[in-house]
Amino acid sequence: MPTFSISRIGSFEQCPMKYKFRYIDKIKPEIPTTIEAFLGSRVHDTLQKLYREKGKKTVMSLEWLIRYYHWIWDKKWEDSILIVKEDKTQDDYRREGERQLGVYYGAHVPFDEGEILGLETWERLALDEDDESHEAGEGGGEAKKPRYSFHIRIDRLMNAGDGLYEVHDYKCGARMDTQEKLDEDRQLAMYSLWVRERHADCKNVRLVWHFTAHDKEMESWRTEEQLAELKAEILAQIKEIEAAKEFPANVTRLCDWCEYKTICPEWT
Ligand code: SF4
Repeated sequence: MPTFSISRIGSFEQCPMKYKFRYIDKIKPEIPTTIEAFLGSRVHDTLQKLYREKGKKTVMSLEWLIRYYHWIWDKKWEDSILIVKEDKTQDDYRREGERQLGVYYGAHVPFDEGEILGLETWERLALDEDDESHEAGEGGGEAKKPRYSFHIRIDRLMNAGDGLYEVHDYKCGARMDTQEKLDEDRQLAMYSLWVRERHADCKNVRLVWHFTAHDKEMESWRTEEQLAELKAEILAQIKEIEAAKEFPANVTRLCDWCEYKTICPEWT
């Protein structure tokens, strides 16, 4: 059963050729990642560690947290990581991650924000037009298997009590999204569908973004009708991608951050 995600769908929308390299030909890029993505991953690792310890009733000190961050940075660092901006070094990005963690820590300590249900989840949401028949085997027939699934990777899932659940997402880049953009965000909304399915007592899901570079928290909500529409939309897009026969290149300024630029015919 093919598994999709918003980044997979987004990759097709950005450049079908890049999509083909990654998801169809499964080419391992020479450049493992960009420094911006690397920084984001290390901040995520560190916040995961912080809340994992909190789940065990231990509040990490800021010093311990920052030590962990530098340890995981060194452990995962590869010299082939792409730094596009010529005026910046690895250390500039490393210090920026440390700054973001320090600010986040100061704003949230002692991290009593509800019950932690999941960190960097690794789940699947079944997707198909006739979802109801998957499990039940309606009409006495055999239960149908869903054709697609959607990857549910929630940075932090919280139970805030009284049927309210929260999906938290960390954004470590310099870009700040507007409220309008977050109200149309597909990724966390899809995650909230899975939360509603998984937790029978769920009455509502708060979608929360932490823009760690700006020390800003923003939220958004979805109705059941909006979620049903989104699910149908995502399914239609997946079918369109699956049916694609052509994968043209789409040259934009984002090519500078593309890990396949070295093999892309538009650039070689
Ligand atoms: S370099 Fe640009 S055109 Fe080529 S695959 Fe990457 S995103 Fe597409």
